[in-house]
Amino acid sequence: LNHRLAAFGTTIFAEMSALAQRTGSINLGQGFPDTDGPEEVREAAVRALRDGRGNQYPPGPGVPELRAAVAAHQQRFYGHLGLSYDPDTEVLVTAGATEAIAASLLALLEPGDEVIALEPYYDSYAACIAMAGGRRVPVTLRPSAETGTYHLDLDELRDAITDDTRLILLNTPHNPTGTVLSRDELAAVAALAVERDLLVITDEVYEHLVFEGEHLPLASFPGMRERTVTIGSAGKTFSFTGWKVGWVTAAPALITAVRSAKQFLTYVSAGPFQYAVAEALALPDSYFTGLRDDLRAKRDILAAGLADAGFGVYRPAGTYFITTDIRPLGAELSHEGDGFAFCRSLPERAGVVAIPNAVFYDHQDQGAPFVRFAFCKSVSVLEEAAGRLKRL
Ligand code: PMP
Ligand code: GLN
Repeated sequence: LNHRLAAFGTTIFAEMSALAQRTGSINLGQGFPDTDGPEEVREAAVRALRDGRGNQYPPGPGVPELRAAVAAHQQRFYGHLGLSYDPDTEVLVTAGATEAIAASLLALLEPGDEVIALEPYYDSYAACIAMAGGRRVPVTLRPSAETGTYHLDLDELRDAITDDTRLILLNTPHNPTGTVLSRDELAAVAALAVERDLLVITDEVYEHLVFEGEHLPLASFPGMRERTVTIGSAGKTFSFTGWKVGWVTAAPALITAVRSAKQFLTYVSAGPFQYAVAEALALPDSYFTGLRDDLRAKRDILAAGLADAGFGVYRPAGTYFITTDIRPLGAELSHEGDGFAFCRSLPERAGVVAIPNAVFYDHQDQGAPFVRFAFCKSVSVLEEAAGRLKRL
């Protein structure tokens, strides 16, 4: 393993899901739903397979039906913000958001370029920045125990920008904190990007999972459309994380760049699922609000259970995840506020698996006492997990 990757080892998600299986624990670690997405979308995949659509190499940018559906989705949800994309030149289908992130960074970074990312960050960001030869510069989201939320310090963001900064890698709604950046925060990020002539890759895979406030695509802010690569995923929006269908929307020059990298990573993404996701993207508005309302209710159940069990709860405005502070559990139970030790012993002590937020930090001390629980699970599973945690 080369030195760029050696530091990263096995992803925490694989490690913790294996631990859950080994110990028979409830897995609130890795973020995947325990109920599959809509039956009619599964049927659409079966039909595509049977009818021989996509069983041979589909076109590099993605099948036209899916590119048109992505463009129509952007128009439906963000057209009122002035955002729309040409399906032929401004949409690229990828193997999940993960490939979109990798291909975007590989395409846009020169060795030594600095990338600013909001810490804590989703684990593939650091590895992909490293693979692209870039240097990551974390800007730490600050927790406020009083409000139970995280905040972006715009002065810190401004101070992090240097002459070597090439791009900002943004994520809203934010994994793992559940933060949804506000209109003012996004406007400030946009103003900085324009002022310092930066590109932005914005990971918006949880765009439909916003429980309070609204999701605003960064690309809809003044001056941003030409400099923003926006990433979406069918995994999150349709509860099919195993299908690995994602997409990028951006101006033609950026799409061409990202496609140049994608063609040598996977060449194309799996065909039949693309046709099924095209149908999924055309589901009525009620599907999207239904998904959101269902997850909001699940958030509320798990948040109440965690608070009842004695955790400090950071109430997420979006995503699949609740970040908790384990210190209120006391020194012994919380392993003196050591999230790693806590998560390693939790399966045996309570039969529940969670993720230590420290893995998402460069400044690991900042993340040490925080632990993430996923609530994209059935109500009965969440209730059982809450009961077990209460008996800790
Ligand atoms: N970005 C974020 C913020 C995520 O949480 C995830 C994981 N689910 C991904 C990207 C990867 O998405 P996909 O499964 O579509 O590759
Ligand atoms: N995005 C999911 C999470 O944050 C898991 C993705 C993965 O396993 N790579 O838990």
